[in-house]
Amino acid sequence: MDDGEGRAVEARTWASDKVEVRPCGSGQALFAAADIAAGERLLALAPVFVSAIGRYTIQIDGERHQAGTDEADDFMNHSCEPSARLDFETLEVLALRPIAAGELVTFNYLSSEWDMAEPFACECGSSGCMGTIRGFRHLDRDQRRALVHLASPYLRGRLEDT
Ligand SMILES: [Zn+2]
Repeated sequence: MDDGEGRAVEARTWASDKVEVRPCGSGQALFAAADIAAGERLLALAPVFVSAIGRYTIQIDGERHQAGTDEADDFMNHSCEPSARLDFETLEVLALRPIAAGELVTFNYLSSEWDMAEPFACECGSSGCMGTIRGFRHLDRDQRRALVHLASPYLRGRLEDT
């Protein structure tokens, strides 16, 4: 990217000062650093895209995966009952509900990923936990419909695909 006058501009993820990456288990995760209201903008993802999925990519549509840029969004954990969601048009991460200081900021990877690079066993503990998180492709019709309010326009378009 450049600034229109030929100078290189590094695309960066913007993060609210109400969130921060902290140690969590054996790694790091994104936490609320202050009380957050429902609907607050928490992140704006760097508009950097790759065509291949990876551990830190976020699928936007059939061709584009937001790249891992080693910034706050790379540390957002999955939850089947997430505290935040991604707006796929603006690439903004928004609080789904009030989030208390010290709580994890999570989103549902199944709302973006058709087929994940690295499936994993979810330990979110929610009553609606989907167990092994492998991607929207692997959900049955009822599970897909339960997620449709969070799912990307791309995944909504594939709701009935096998
Ligand atoms: Zn879960």
